[in-house]
Amino acid sequence: MNPPQGSRPTRYRIAPLNPHAHVFEVSCTVDEPDPAGQSFRLPAWIPGSYLIREFARHFVSVRAECNGSGIGIRKTAKDIWQADPCSGALTMIAEVYAFDLSVRAAYLDGRRGYFNGPSVFVWPVGQEQRPCEVEIVAAQGEGYREWRVATSLPRAGASPYGFGRFAAANYDELIDHPVEMGSFDLVHFQAGGARHDIAVTGRHRGDLKRFSRDLQRVCQAQVDLFGGAPESRAPVDYYLFHVLAIGEGYGGLEHRSSTSLICKRDELPQLGSIGVGEDYRSLLGLASHEYFHTWNVKRIKPSAFLPYDLTRENLTEQLWAFEGITSYYDDLMLVRSGVIGVSDYLELLGRDITRLLRAPGRSRQSVAESSFDAWIKYYRRDENTPNAVVSYYLKGALIALALDLMLRRAGVTTLDEVMRALWQRHGKPGIGVPENGVEALAAELAGIDLTDFFGKYVHGTADLPLAELLAPFGVDVMLRAAEGAKDKGGSPGKRKTARAWLGVVLAAGAEPRLQHVLSDGPAERAGLAAGDTLVAIDGIRASAESLERVLKFRGADDVVSVQAFRRDELMEFSVELDAAPLETCWLALADDANADALARRSAWLGQSPANP
Ligand code: ZN
Repeated sequence: MNPPQGSRPTRYRIAPLNPHAHVFEVSCTVDEPDPAGQSFRLPAWIPGSYLIREFARHFVSVRAECNGSGIGIRKTAKDIWQADPCSGALTMIAEVYAFDLSVRAAYLDGRRGYFNGPSVFVWPVGQEQRPCEVEIVAAQGEGYREWRVATSLPRAGASPYGFGRFAAANYDELIDHPVEMGSFDLVHFQAGGARHDIAVTGRHRGDLKRFSRDLQRVCQAQVDLFGGAPESRAPVDYYLFHVLAIGEGYGGLEHRSSTSLICKRDELPQLGSIGVGEDYRSLLGLASHEYFHTWNVKRIKPSAFLPYDLTRENLTEQLWAFEGITSYYDDLMLVRSGVIGVSDYLELLGRDITRLLRAPGRSRQSVAESSFDAWIKYYRRDENTPNAVVSYYLKGALIALALDLMLRRAGVTTLDEVMRALWQRHGKPGIGVPENGVEALAAELAGIDLTDFFGKYVHGTADLPLAELLAPFGVDVMLRAAEGAKDKGGSPGKRKTARAWLGVVLAAGAEPRLQHVLSDGPAERAGLAAGDTLVAIDGIRASAESLERVLKFRGADDVVSVQAFRRDELMEFSVELDAAPLETCWLALADDANADALARRSAWLGQSPANP
């Protein structure tokens, strides 16, 4: 049904029109517009972030020109503009407001500009397969002389890091290369035969040489995983890590040859520091996660994303595999590449298990359901999210762990081999992974029936038997209440301990306000609700500290009186406390591991037992 698509490119131009007003001017020119009136459309979401974002709401004004003269253009839908009939070159010109400090949209001020294609570039309807050219124009004025451009968008005339002309094979490629303009620090390394740049924007005092060295090892380990050493090659010729360092913030979004990361400036390794602290480990994990997506989701894709429908939700039950397996490997590649030690890795795993155990939603929603409903649940968090939603990242990662351990124990295959097979069979354009495709492939390679495993843990809500699965690898799983008694091994559940529990999560801030009231907990039973502000507990002014004291010194089954404001109304509750559930988990190397267990563990973690 598409009109003939010749090779004449769609031409785009983007310029920082008014940095202080945060406005880009963006134009799109087609040489052969639809004679009946060409339509232009803007994506409603950005691939990788599964929420309808309605980027069109930031299109402040739109006009059109036919052969250089103004013609009419009007909206025909929330995200569609249709120009009057024109024979000759038709240009749509928009002013786009850009002040979103995230990895998902666009930002412009007097210090830097940044944009993702889906939030600024329309596509000429029916011509989305034409090649695209884009001219990225420098801001005018003295203050912008030092600005350079960092992007993985292929250059067509623009000098390295300069403004000028860029090219893409089609619209899909055009919008998958975010662009940073401004002053940034650059370091680079080689991995898998490809140049990798890190462009760091924002005030920081990070040791970028060290970051580059460590990230090189992580990237090479991933290339080796998918490519198989020794002649393994990265799936790109060039890769760019965009890093925005700010005071508070966290985020990442994957693209085919780049990623955008936002981190706290303190997460960059500090000059002169040694070892990998918690902050730096978090940044390395984020960079590792997004790089793993270069294979898993950017090239190995669910069939449901072929092609992306940028106008509406793209539904799949497989985000647990594309995000969860990626989340399993992000930290695993840090330990396998030797950037962190085994004990650090076990600490990270213990924290993940803890986070999952603390979310009652895990027994209400499966990760397949969570994947499907990501658009309306996981990405739209509210006070009831912990009770109703399971994270397909978090439980998906632990499912990947459980699957890997189970396959390794059976001795026929590993999750690494499943990922390589996925890459070989589905890594080519157009060969999507059908729903349940990962499950079928794992069963095929393992030569065993995995229906029960996936039925229970992916399509059902059963808790994973991680203690049982980790034991043959010489790793002990321990559980305890948030504070207090310790208990070795076993499955999660409520046990009698000295510590009492209210079943709430307090919001950050000085005021003791309930952010979440957990399902079936004492607070819910007594009638407390999310949003309530605690006033007094047993007649003493409530604060995070006084609540902590009460829970520490009162027994489970004790009754406390709680006064709280719901909106502006004072209410009183009688709360019968429970014993705190054993939901804090930590892992440790078993003292009594035998040689088989040690060998299994070093094959899994890639480090010898002598180097924990
Ligand atoms: Zn991800």
